[in-house]
Amino acid sequence: MKVINRCITFDQEKIFAFPLFACPVELFILQDRAIEFIIFILVYSDYIFCLLRVSGKTLSTQQSQQRASMKPSFHPRLINDPFSDPGLFIPFLFERRALLFDLGDLSPLSARDLLKVSHVFVTHTHMDHFIGFDTLLRLLIGRDKEIHLFGPSNFIQKVEAKLSAYNWNLIENYEDTLFIKVTEIQGERVVTQSFSSRDRFKPAGALQERPFKGGLLSEKFFSIDAIILDHKTDCIGLCLKENFSINIIKEGLKELGLPVGPWLREFKEAIYEERNPAQPFTIVWQDKDMVTREKHFTLAELKARIARISPGQKITYITDMIGSPENIAKAVNLALESSHLFIETPFLDKERDVARMKYHLTAKEAGLIAARAGVKELIPFHFSPRYFGGEKELIQEAMAAFQSGR
Ligand SMILES: [Zn+2]
Ligand SMILES: [Zn+2]
Repeated sequence: MKVINRCITFDQEKIFAFPLFACPVELFILQDRAIEFIIFILVYSDYIFCLLRVSGKTLSTQQSQQRASMKPSFHPRLINDPFSDPGLFIPFLFERRALLFDLGDLSPLSARDLLKVSHVFVTHTHMDHFIGFDTLLRLLIGRDKEIHLFGPSNFIQKVEAKLSAYNWNLIENYEDTLFIKVTEIQGERVVTQSFSSRDRFKPAGALQERPFKGGLLSEKFFSIDAIILDHKTDCIGLCLKENFSINIIKEGLKELGLPVGPWLREFKEAIYEERNPAQPFTIVWQDKDMVTREKHFTLAELKARIARISPGQKITYITDMIGSPENIAKAVNLALESSHLFIETPFLDKERDVARMKYHLTAKEAGLIAARAGVKELIPFHFSPRYFGGEKELIQEAMAAFQSGR
């Protein structure tokens, strides 16, 4: 056994030394990330426990409820601890695809995770929300990919400035082309500019324009809405809405003798696309003995036996806004009946003056927004470093306001 003393830097101001960990050194090397995860859990156990306790659920009851009812299509998770850069990673259940809200420090995400990202929504370009642009770009260069970025007014110019900071004189040697499509909200319209690695990321063609009535992106099974909030600059509040949720009934699969497999994705797509219910649906798979099997149904038949349709998830992400009545009304409206509300809680209410000066919310205001919006789950984040070690107070203030205002 070997004793290893680990340190992690959470921000420039705070360096933490952690309790000694005893483990075989080989295990440590192989499972470095796992150990960092354990350290994270140890340090933030108060944060995690507090969230679970105040929401009145234990981990085990939450898990068993999920098992009994549904598997969510989206699994949002904060990229960093609540004192570090804000950002939400939202992987899809049945696709190798993900969305990103904000582009702060992305280092906790693996290349595998980042390569799943198709659309990125940047609330505003303060450094803690945008510094990860280079990390993402670095990974995507040389790949055949199209990525979509969305942001507030002047976002196109900010991305263009980032792209033009590098020398691209050798990029024509790359076989694959990276396309970056950047969209910004300008009041009642959105404007899109494309950039291609083939053209050394010079703006390509004329700006494309369409009206903006709150919808930034609409796909067959989900949409993204946005609002503009006041943070002494435009800052976007974001909401991911799943049109509806399709849960697969395991017993139904068993009764029909069907395996779990990629065909379920196709089946779900057929429902989302509202294809003709009388349309035949054939399932082909290989069993354990490598024998190919197939079964035939109509879409309606299969839907009746193995699918349960329920309201979709609604995931709202609000960060960096002053607690003005206008902002609060907009935030409540966006978050209405969300299944998850990720909302900034940077300051305690007793330091409301500081929060106002910095154009941020207090924890109490965040809790009241959650209560007025009738959200199911509140996840506070983006804590000011001044509360390091005292995060419990921030969480309790937010949760108390959430509970009392419900
Ligand atoms: Zn900001
Ligand atoms: Zn911020």
